[in-house]
Amino acid sequence: MLATLPPLPGKFGFALDTGPRPVLTGTSADIRVERSAGGQLILRPDGHPLGRRITDLAADIRALVDWFIASGGVADGRGRMRALIARGVVPPGCDTEPAPPLPLPAPGLYPEGALVALAFGQIQAETLAALAALGHEIRPTPWRMLMLVGATALPDLPSLITDPADPLLRVTACTGAPGCPQAGGETRALARALAPHLPDGTSLHLSGCTKGCARPGPSDLTLVATAQGYDLVHGGRAQDTPSLTGLSPKAILDHLKALHAPSL
Ligand code: SF4
Repeated sequence: MLATLPPLPGKFGFALDTGPRPVLTGTSADIRVERSAGGQLILRPDGHPLGRRITDLAADIRALVDWFIASGGVADGRGRMRALIARGVVPPGCDTEPAPPLPLPAPGLYPEGALVALAFGQIQAETLAALAALGHEIRPTPWRMLMLVGATALPDLPSLITDPADPLLRVTACTGAPGCPQAGGETRALARALAPHLPDGTSLHLSGCTKGCARPGPSDLTLVATAQGYDLVHGGRAQDTPSLTGLSPKAILDHLKALHAPSL
């Protein structure tokens, strides 16, 4: 069916999330197939809280894709559903709420095995080889975590996140400089340095530019690298208007410490 769709931006994606409750809500996608609280399949454009009931999955997806293109969702071969919805453009018939999403799983031991997380979704070849040597099936998940099926203990390997309180679990960062030519600065080393200073429960997105590839949605704090330093957006996305601009890494750290400070 996907082969019959008109050309779409390279990052445009679909989430088939049809269990009783969604588990991919925080995972990047543009068109989501989910269930309502009553179990009805719905098609939900990413960024909109409601979806429309599905009568014919292939035809309904085609109609939503056609609407996305006709509504100006694609410019110069790029575009995401969330950005279009944020402009106040909403497809007709979206009136059904999805079932409440399941909370994101945390690293730890489960009846199925051991769940370990990877900072920024990356793993070193040596760590992967050491994991494989443990002899368990390694099952990828959509949450930048790996399930070691049947494991009864968490592996003690460098760079794996096994502590559910690790602040790196609340940090997202794209490739940044020098890996991405569009980046205005470095991202992941700074993200690692800032993580221990995040206030409890605060999420941080460090983006190499305003495209925000690593996280199309909002975060509590979003830092965007520019040639002049880092711009800071509170409660928004990389594309949103920053409240502070041109920050140095030290100025960012000072800002985070001020967030911790008790109010007088
Ligand atoms: S957000 Fe910008 S810098 Fe980061 S990967 Fe995407 S294009 Fe590159």
